[in-house]
Amino acid sequence: MKQLFYFFIIIIITSFTMVGQQSQPNFYCGYDDVIKINELLFPGYKTNVDQSFRYAEAMSSFHYRNTDVLKVKVVIHVVYKTEMENLNDTIIQNQMEVLNKAFRLQNENRTEIRDIFKDIQSDAGIEFELQEVIRVKTNANFALTLTGLPDAVKQNSRGGSDAINPENFLNIWVCRIQPIPFIGGQILGYAYPPSGLANWPEGTAAPSQNLDGVVIDFRVFGSNNPNILTVNGQSHDAQGRTTVHEVGHYLGLRHIWGDGGGIFGGNSCAEDDGMADTPNQGAQSPGGCNKSANTCIDQQNDKPDMIENYMDYSGEVCQNTFTKDQVNLMRSVLMNQRSTLVSAYSIDIEKSWTVYPNPTTDQIFIKNELWSIGNRVLLKNVTGAVVLEAMVSGNLIQMDISQLSQGLYFLEYHNQGKTSIQKIIIHD
Ligand SMILES: [Zn+2]
Repeated sequence: MKQLFYFFIIIIITSFTMVGQQSQPNFYCGYDDVIKINELLFPGYKTNVDQSFRYAEAMSSFHYRNTDVLKVKVVIHVVYKTEMENLNDTIIQNQMEVLNKAFRLQNENRTEIRDIFKDIQSDAGIEFELQEVIRVKTNANFALTLTGLPDAVKQNSRGGSDAINPENFLNIWVCRIQPIPFIGGQILGYAYPPSGLANWPEGTAAPSQNLDGVVIDFRVFGSNNPNILTVNGQSHDAQGRTTVHEVGHYLGLRHIWGDGGGIFGGNSCAEDDGMADTPNQGAQSPGGCNKSANTCIDQQNDKPDMIENYMDYSGEVCQNTFTKDQVNLMRSVLMNQRSTLVSAYSIDIEKSWTVYPNPTTDQIFIKNELWSIGNRVLLKNVTGAVVLEAMVSGNLIQMDISQLSQGLYFLEYHNQGKTSIQKIIIHD
């Protein structure tokens, strides 16, 4: 059985190789790999992703045309081997700006869209807030291999960095992704699509929830990144829109040409991205900004390939748009399969933790729902002096207060500029 598995994997890799000798772009996204490899690892995965997509699509058509801004908190893991890979905060802030501009249609190049697509260009009404940056030095390499995706980057035990509350936070890992074996092409990033009607229900074919999120190569993160990714003499012009594209996948979008065609299946005008307002497109754009490309000539309402769309493979400089239907789908996913992201944002930190026993004599337990690992909780006396502190290491924190004299104390937790305080009484 295992041999059969490797056989299929080798077929996948070989299909890269064969297409690679024809017109394989040097740079691409690993979304197809996510679907194909996970279908082998977890039979039924593709059906589950498809069903999940259809559900979000159906819900998007009548329920979620409201205009509320949906907010998502983001945890960024910088997993680096060299200092060059340890991207500084300026680049991380820049990437957050590019992401927010794209999802609020505030990107400077939004007006460069051709007239034919102007009426479908849409503000997604989704905003991202940086919750935490985690930096991990590693000796590991992260590569698409014969046994799977570079998910080691998401696991402490394999030289990566464990996800933080993936139900509540969008986790983004930034690392050096190794070139694809044999052909040397480069995955810029990949993301897991939403899968399952509830969030990863038990018994559903899916990789485990702690692998959920987005992975981006460090050379294409942000638009002010001094690192340049060059493959086969071709440099990738990074504008921070690889992350926009991958977050699009994470929120349910497919490639604009339909994921069945393109790299694995050649041109296919019969394959569709499921969006009514995107033009029919038979293959990915091969980078660049070719405005005359038209891979599917339709009988009615023919339109050129939409190189302006974030879900194409056009050059990042010419990408500027999500369409109305794409926006409705992403918002539907945020109200359904990924609704815990939005509810986490709006959670009241006052109500997100409890302390027991209280009054107490020798120890207290602090139970919290969404505190960020590494943040601190402080115990102060009535004069405001810190008498004890503890690092948040999980959902339950224990504090030994047996050395403290009896009286009134205050537990303080600070996060995102907000402070939450609870009274503690210690008695003999
Ligand atoms: Zn993609």
